[in-house]
Amino acid sequence: MRRTAQSILVEHGRITWIRPTDAEEDSGPASSRQLIDSRGLTAVPGMVDAHCHLTSPGGKRYIERFSDPPRQLIETAESNGSLARQSGAAWLRDAGSPTVTDPVGGQRRALALGIRDRWASRDDRPRVKAAGTWIAAPGGLESGLGLVVRDADELVAAAHLQLDQGADLVKLYVESRRGHDSPWTAAEIRRVVEAVHGRGAKVTAHAMWLKTARAAILGGVDAIEHGFHLDSDACAEMARRGTYLVSTLIVPRNWLRLGTTTSGSFWSTRAGKRYARNILAAGEESVAIAGQRGVRIAAGTDFGGGSPRAGQLAWEVESLVIAGMQPWQALGAATWRGGDLLGIANAGRISEGGPADFFLVDGDPLSDPSALWNVARLA
Ligand SMILES: [Zn+2]
Repeated sequence: MRRTAQSILVEHGRITWIRPTDAEEDSGPASSRQLIDSRGLTAVPGMVDAHCHLTSPGGKRYIERFSDPPRQLIETAESNGSLARQSGAAWLRDAGSPTVTDPVGGQRRALALGIRDRWASRDDRPRVKAAGTWIAAPGGLESGLGLVVRDADELVAAAHLQLDQGADLVKLYVESRRGHDSPWTAAEIRRVVEAVHGRGAKVTAHAMWLKTARAAILGGVDAIEHGFHLDSDACAEMARRGTYLVSTLIVPRNWLRLGTTTSGSFWSTRAGKRYARNILAAGEESVAIAGQRGVRIAAGTDFGGGSPRAGQLAWEVESLVIAGMQPWQALGAATWRGGDLLGIANAGRISEGGPADFFLVDGDPLSDPSALWNVARLA
């Protein structure tokens, strides 16, 4: 909802009141407050990047970079966190990081978990919910990064291990060695979902293809990541179950950009460009169908785990609008929908008594989403 000519009083990091500018309440003596002239600016709720990877920089070698030395991965995360925060992101949902020995905390587990803990008390970083390390079938995650499980028993055990090590959610990498089939049946996925739900956590599934998404949806996962090839039946089932779609349309958009700005990679070949164009077209179609069917859509960048960079959530909002969503819906996907996905009541919302997690942009993102790039100030 758009409201014009409003004043917001912030005290100690929380919103005390929101009033029409011509009917402000007493905000105390002038000497004790700082007046921010925000005429022409729009206050936007702190955004939620619902799918990203703190420890990789994205770019052309985005997968290889997860194998950087742990200290380098942490430096990358610091840079990503700063960029994301400055772009208006208040929350990040890390969708997978490598298991290494944390050079700061000393624990051997998914590296984003320690970064999450250390950022929790820092105003210059977003808050984080993190998935631990990807859980994959043999050959499903080519890079060797994931925790590889051979059967359904190992799948459940791997999920418990991630939760034991402090993961907020469990990430299943539903991808086969070849072809677009799911490596696990819906029944096998249901077993791991029940185990994780039993511990009060959530399960999400990387599922790019229709068959992998179908197995994950019927298995009861809480969200489908990417979902580039959903059909009407799959979306109807997601809507019925309340399964989220986490969109990452800027991944294929960024592949296309790499194809024109770099050389010597798959993305600059004709086959690479065709692949990226096909994924983008299918992904836009999926978002359109999901929207029509009433699926809850949250927006992600996939920075680090795809070639996009930290701080590019505005681009995903623009991409959702190109795919047919209204600007208010697309902005909702990048704010309160992401907050609901995280289960954080105040995330992505501006409300009296809530945290002052908002930022000011030059322009009106409800009529022109590109205004989100024009960050004038963080609250
Ligand atoms: Zn990802």
